[in-house]
Amino acid sequence: MIELRNIVKIYDTEGVKTEALRGIDLKIDMGEYVAIMGASGSGKSTLLHILGGMDKATSGEYLYNNIRVNELKESKLHEFRKNNVSFIFQNFALMKYYTVFENVEMPLLSRGLSAKERKKTVREMLELVGIADLEKKLPIHISGGQQQRCAIARALASGNELILADEPTGALDSKTGQEIMEVFKKVREMGKTVVVITHDANVAEKADRIVRLEDGRIG
Ligand code: ADP
Ligand code: MG
Repeated sequence: MIELRNIVKIYDTEGVKTEALRGIDLKIDMGEYVAIMGASGSGKSTLLHILGGMDKATSGEYLYNNIRVNELKESKLHEFRKNNVSFIFQNFALMKYYTVFENVEMPLLSRGLSAKERKKTVREMLELVGIADLEKKLPIHISGGQQQRCAIARALASGNELILADEPTGALDSKTGQEIMEVFKKVREMGKTVVVITHDANVAEKADRIVRLEDGRIG
């Protein structure tokens, strides 16, 4: 279970304070697929960064199963991210000089697996996201939707259980965007916990639940 209790985030840039989150209470079950919606500036990315341990709340409690994430020091927070969280970006963030296969293999390299074991996992993940035939291609030689599938396969290869995505369909046309959301459904069926930010209602309705943010609060 993921639980946020009264999470407040105040950015302080050169004395200018911005209250991005104003007391968020949110529970997410492991294995749930949640969409976060809200206007630009409502705090969606800030919330996702806190969930992923990429940023710390100014106050409030964050429980991830038995881990009190808000109390972790920087090195432990790094470990928390590495062991639990995979992030998917709007612009895919693939390594452009590496093939699809190599991109997906990347998170497996530090795990002490044999080349054969890595190959098996990479192929399983590519199969799951529907781009098994593209493994030798470079990202520039495949479409945006295919690049996002590759990024999802890479996130899955990490084996981490929390998959976070910040507007993963934002750079795609709406049909491709909905196909990507179907891929996230499969990810959820694998037992992963998926939290996706979107401003597209058609995209959001594919999730189990929609959380709406309004000016740093849950609406
Ligand atoms: P969203 O993703 O919903 O567009 P954000 O979480 O990015 O919203 O931002 C919420 C508020 O916090 C906005 O007012 C934004 O300008 C501010 N903000 C976001 N990141 C920073 C930052 N690093 N420094 C200062 N202010 C920030
Ligand atoms: Mg954002």
